[in-house]
Amino acid sequence: MLRNKIFVGIILFHFLLIFLFIPGLLFNIDSSKDCENGSGYTLFDFEHRTLPITYSFNSSVPQMIKDQTVIALEIWDNLISINLFERNNTDFTLFFEHRKISPEDRLFYDLDNPIGYADIYRNRSNNGDFDYFYNATIVFNLDYQFEDLEFSCNIWDSILSNKTVDILSIALHEIGHVLGLDHTLMYSLTMSPSYQGTFQKTLAQGDINGFNELFGGYEI
Ligand SMILES: [Zn+2]
Repeated sequence: MLRNKIFVGIILFHFLLIFLFIPGLLFNIDSSKDCENGSGYTLFDFEHRTLPITYSFNSSVPQMIKDQTVIALEIWDNLISINLFERNNTDFTLFFEHRKISPEDRLFYDLDNPIGYADIYRNRSNNGDFDYFYNATIVFNLDYQFEDLEFSCNIWDSILSNKTVDILSIALHEIGHVLGLDHTLMYSLTMSPSYQGTFQKTLAQGDINGFNELFGGYEI
């Protein structure tokens, strides 16, 4: 079934890796400093069209994840005052699931056990000038405990909490992919490829710059 999806369009995936210790050791974050710095960003290297969007949760997604995910959508939306929630005149739908990552998925994506990931399906326009997204699914891995954790600059919080992760941080990251942002190497940004801690529940300047590059001046 997964293979069949590829024939519908080109499939892209991005994910959060469990990679907690090494960044903390390398950068030695001091919690007394501003932990969200860096203005860089990376965009997907193709055209995108993700706005306006509809979204839906499958029935297994817990209410707490739903609530935090809606907040994540609103955070992105507030950056440029457009309506991500427009329900008319759109064919882009964003789905959310909360489930185990199947052995087939792990093999296909060459991932061990990501916290979450986004399947983004894209298609080519009729005249072939650009590719565009036409729907996406964000999966929250049932193997992790998602909670609404208090903001902290301390990277060690995320390590001490074992498999407990901050849901808003994960939701912001995955929705960032859906909106057109790729990973950046800056560990302090929400779009870092790894979960670093609860400070990723707010956007750093690089995340904002990337989004403005994508959607600045966009009108619906
Ligand atoms: Zn990612």
